[in-house]
Amino acid sequence: MRSFIFLTLFIGVARISAAEFDQGFTQGRTYPAEVGDTDAEIWCRATHNIESGMCQMTMPDMVVLDLDLKTGSVSSGGVVSEEFSARTDESGRMCALDIKTVDQSHLGQWRCDIAQETHMSEFGYISLLNNEMGFVRDVRLPRHVIPEVYNLTLIPFIVEDNYTIKGEVKLTGYIQETELNNCDYKCITLHTRDTYINEETLQVGLDEFSPYKIESVGYDIDRDFVIIMLEEPMLQDSFYLHMDFVSQLQDNLAGFYRSSYVDRINNVTKNIGTTQFESTDARRAFPCLDEPDMKAVFNTRLGRRRDMITLSNMESLAGEVIDDEYLLDIYEPSVKMSTYLLAFIVCEFGSVYDEGHENFKIWSQEDRVPELGYAAKIGPQVIQFYEDLFDYKFPLNKMDMAAIPDFQSGAMENWGLITYRDTAILYDEVNYALKSKERVATVVAHELAHQWFGDLVTMKWWNDLWLNEGFASYIEYLGADYVEPDMRLKERTVNFDMQDVFYLDALPSSHPISVNIENPVYQENFDRISYGKGAILIRMMSNFLTPDTFHQGLANYFKEHAYSNAEQDDLWTSLGDQAHVDGVLPQEVTAKQIMDTWTLQKGYPVIKVVHNKAEGTFELSQTKFNLESGSEDKEEFSWWVPITYASTKEDMMDSSVDYWLNTESASIPAPSNMEDDLFIFNTGAMGYYRVNYEDSVWKQITEVFPSLPVLSRSQILDDAMNLARAGQLSYDIALDLTKSLIDEDDIMVVYTFDKRIEFLDNMVNADDRYESLRTYIREGVQGLYNKVIENDSSDFIPTLLKTVVLPLACSYGNQDCIDSAKELFAAWRSADADYETAVDPNIKAWAYCYGIRYGSAEDWDLAWSRLQQTSQILERDSIISALGCTEDPELLTKYLQLSVDPTSVIRTQNKRYLYLAIGSSKQGSDLMLDWLEANWEDIKEFYGDTFVYNVANMVAKYPDHANTQEEFDRMNNFYTTHKGELGSSADPVKQGLDKISANVKWRQNFYEQVLEWFVANTQ
Ligand SMILES: [Zn+2]
Repeated sequence: MRSFIFLTLFIGVARISAAEFDQGFTQGRTYPAEVGDTDAEIWCRATHNIESGMCQMTMPDMVVLDLDLKTGSVSSGGVVSEEFSARTDESGRMCALDIKTVDQSHLGQWRCDIAQETHMSEFGYISLLNNEMGFVRDVRLPRHVIPEVYNLTLIPFIVEDNYTIKGEVKLTGYIQETELNNCDYKCITLHTRDTYINEETLQVGLDEFSPYKIESVGYDIDRDFVIIMLEEPMLQDSFYLHMDFVSQLQDNLAGFYRSSYVDRINNVTKNIGTTQFESTDARRAFPCLDEPDMKAVFNTRLGRRRDMITLSNMESLAGEVIDDEYLLDIYEPSVKMSTYLLAFIVCEFGSVYDEGHENFKIWSQEDRVPELGYAAKIGPQVIQFYEDLFDYKFPLNKMDMAAIPDFQSGAMENWGLITYRDTAILYDEVNYALKSKERVATVVAHELAHQWFGDLVTMKWWNDLWLNEGFASYIEYLGADYVEPDMRLKERTVNFDMQDVFYLDALPSSHPISVNIENPVYQENFDRISYGKGAILIRMMSNFLTPDTFHQGLANYFKEHAYSNAEQDDLWTSLGDQAHVDGVLPQEVTAKQIMDTWTLQKGYPVIKVVHNKAEGTFELSQTKFNLESGSEDKEEFSWWVPITYASTKEDMMDSSVDYWLNTESASIPAPSNMEDDLFIFNTGAMGYYRVNYEDSVWKQITEVFPSLPVLSRSQILDDAMNLARAGQLSYDIALDLTKSLIDEDDIMVVYTFDKRIEFLDNMVNADDRYESLRTYIREGVQGLYNKVIENDSSDFIPTLLKTVVLPLACSYGNQDCIDSAKELFAAWRSADADYETAVDPNIKAWAYCYGIRYGSAEDWDLAWSRLQQTSQILERDSIISALGCTEDPELLTKYLQLSVDPTSVIRTQNKRYLYLAIGSSKQGSDLMLDWLEANWEDIKEFYGDTFVYNVANMVAKYPDHANTQEEFDRMNNFYTTHKGELGSSADPVKQGLDKISANVKWRQNFYEQVLEWFVANTQ
């Protein structure tokens, strides 16, 4: 219930111009500089004119330089130095130092001081760093200032030629005694970025009425710090801080940002203000202590135009009138929470809720409200499921979820106000594919899992991000499975997490999932390995602890650390203690002992099993699995491996642990000793490891393969193909397993087959003998193709199988398949206004792709023009991908050029799909790399902040098709030329080099063998 009380106009909506930012303190950020560089400069610019005409620079070795801005001379201890000169600019606010030649003593952190008479004195820190030093690392806040309550007022002006936020923050908390205090309690350091702090309004005190005297204000732009220096130390007691500020509503998808959309009901463009704060962007919206363990209570007040609404983490309690145009919504005090989980939305959205759940609303632009029903239905069910699973009630009294028109990632778990990109929350039965439904179910279940794991209990620091994400990525399958049991999500995680990550984690460039994060601005650990491997390790753990113990341990963990922060060791303690109570782990073994071997080491083991029937034993040994044959790691790796096995004569899904292998090798008793016994290890594919057998056992497995449980079939096929790829198993044995494909119809096995065959195809498709591989697969999947086209079931799994089998059959030349795609495309082409509904949504992507591939330039142009018109999300995404399916180099180049056209209708968030589609063929990925290099500067200018992210997508697929030394050299050349500009994308590109290097080795070793096998098997 909200009511509006008319209050005095205590805030007043002063329109702020962008020019006002110019009044703030500014300075150069970190400069790259090498010893010997000439004409380097360091500068800072004060908020006001430098009255004295003098300023100071302190060198990294603490030598103080006096700059005379009037004469340009620089002196130290009264002696004029010839190495430097000083200058200012026409504003008279600049203090700049020119360095003639950079030497070693210039590298490091500088300080700029501007003393003022009539205004507050200011200072700043600037770094000169060479390439080797990279970026600023020690970015943590001092620990003596502990926030407790923020009273925060934000009035965003979502109006053209303004786009600013007028803000006020009052912060209270306490000063604690700590060794980690760099200023003798005389400073308060907050995070801020791209924000103009009005220094005249700064107040620091014991409380509102007992102020401390402020000496100066400093900025450390590399660390996003504002530092308020006091004349006297603060008491180790409470503190109070107040400031007014102006921040910006940029369109960069970070901080409090703006976005726009066309409302199709009235056909008008509308703007919204929304937030994305993880990891380090709350500081762009307001000055705060922006680290995950600086939890506090937030009393938020959000300004809005009268025709808009606001949403935030908590419930809105009341409102105030600001003026004729603007109102202020007042939110109830938040629970104690981290800054990165705050969220604010100012918009004209509409909402729905499922009957009986009016406190769980789903929001979107008005014309998409009909597409919110599915999320509204499953959301409350998943929350209920988690409350039972975690034995902990959802702590807020409402939940809102919103579809945001521009969103960089998939979704964000802000506590009580989850934000999503459109495809992760919108669904209806007419315009979307069942695959879209699966995506909504899993993403919603993922974000809701974070409400406990991440929001209620938060990681202490970003090191443990993997735990946050891995956990949510595992639990999402339980949550989504609860509402959609037909999707078989608990099993299929083996396909899309385990088998996918097995590949990346077997490359030399892999990393342990638990990594030390020095500067979270460089989010190097937000990758597939953190999410996927994390999920699989938690799944493995849940299995070896047994689900009951795992869930009880989790419940204990939530109770103990609620509203606080924890590290991975705290979770291991909660789970391990419960395991000891329940007797599922030996008393002398801790969960930490086991899990450290998986989280602190990169990679995973392959277990070699030798069944010694004469002795009645299994001889087990573990070694790190490397994809590149012959590559040896210098370090020694060893894991605590939960060994499970089952005879093909018993329950093959029993995955209780039979033995803990924590040594390099072991001999353990085998259960029986019959001549024809066959034991399959890693039952249910629950362990994050591969298994290799003796050749004779592999032959036995091939014979019984079709009768094995599906999880075993999928994982054995994946193991065999990868063991062969790494030179640890003969390709003859691995490929023999694929013969069973003739009778295979399970989605998981077909999926594995599809992925593993794609690799072989990429490696040999330029060879004369390639046709035999095509024939083998075309004939192999013929039966499956017939089955899926005859099956008109609209159930999830049969439909999904169809979406995998059709592209597979078409790409290997199944003529009937190609003809039907063309036919569907022709129907789409000749449809008029109703083209969006001409093709079944589930097979749209396939039909459009093959239609464009075999179509004309006119067809391509038609698709491009329909992309400009359509507002249907699946139609849009299917066309974006299909346009990249053409094999015409001119059209591909045209598409690339259109991708960086300022008038392009493809939102930045969707460019990824365009580049991945073009890169999916060898021709496309080659052409894209040429184009990128030829137009590097223009593309860089076009993308600005998102450049490196897009570059990563442009080159992501290149390694898949590259297996020659020339191709390696080309990528390596690209990497070394642009390394310095690649930022957070340098790692994925380096990973790509590893992939090519492994491919080159593969080509030398297995190329002939594989082709000969296909030739021999298609006679
Ligand atoms: Zn997540």
